[in-house]
Amino acid sequence: MPSRKIDDPKTYRGRIAPTPSGLLHVGHARTFWIAWWRSRISSGSLIYRNEDLDPHRCKANFTQAALEDMLWLGLNWEEGPDVGGVHAPYHQSQRTGIFRKALFQLMSRGFLYPCRRSRRELREYAESHGLNMQDPIYPVSWRPKDFSIEDPEQFSDCAWRFRVPTGRVIRFEDQNSKLGHVSYEAGKDFGDFVVWRRDDVPAYELAVVVDDIAMGITEVVRGQDLLLSTARQILLFEALEATAPAYFHCPLLLDEEGRKLSKRLDSRSIEQHRLSGVHPDEWIREFRCTYDSLV
Ligand code: GLU
Repeated sequence: MPSRKIDDPKTYRGRIAPTPSGLLHVGHARTFWIAWWRSRISSGSLIYRNEDLDPHRCKANFTQAALEDMLWLGLNWEEGPDVGGVHAPYHQSQRTGIFRKALFQLMSRGFLYPCRRSRRELREYAESHGLNMQDPIYPVSWRPKDFSIEDPEQFSDCAWRFRVPTGRVIRFEDQNSKLGHVSYEAGKDFGDFVVWRRDDVPAYELAVVVDDIAMGITEVVRGQDLLLSTARQILLFEALEATAPAYFHCPLLLDEEGRKLSKRLDSRSIEQHRLSGVHPDEWIREFRCTYDSLV
């Protein structure tokens, strides 16, 4: 896949896309700062997108806290929920119509199949077959043999899965020089994934790709925990006949025990630092150092 040059000022469009399912931590701050920095040094644009798709996990107070965290860090953006822009709305919960359109496109092109299996069934299958339990690969034998989408009503209680091309190697050149050439094999590193949930909510993988296309994003800066998602998403860009953006995956920040920071570790939230009167300068110096070591 060709990677874009960061020094093309006309085309660079980046984004920061927090999910308001909890308070953001310093790891998010670093990733978002790098996204912002790359958009500034390329004289490009930055889009702020609020990824509040999941009605059970996302809360308005977290949306507000994330916005305030980013402003406190000194970030600015050209388009977003607070400043508007030509691609409004910038809250994903208000964009279901465009995700549904993409769902129908993928369905009619034969990329998807309906699925009524539960996560528990999949876990049990993985356990009984000695497979990776963390992110079990959906068994190919569970794909429906034949079905017709003529009558979509009969699938109203189904999730929709993307049929991955088994054996296909997905490659990309990461803009983070520490990662460089990255490749994953479909069917081995990841399996058929959900693009539309059974509770009628668009899945992250689909929503993010549809929005990155709609908003003309040329580079995605995200955490390395999303590397496999990037591979899945490249398949979705292809299926939707769009060009995938360039990717810069940032290293993850770990806690003292070497675990990835999570939103549950509220003691590390940006908000807590912000409200305690800390100035972000020191963080930003560190972010800059980390960034410089990656390019
Ligand atoms: N919203 C996602 C998150 O907070 C990141 C989106 C992305 O980079 O694709 O984990």
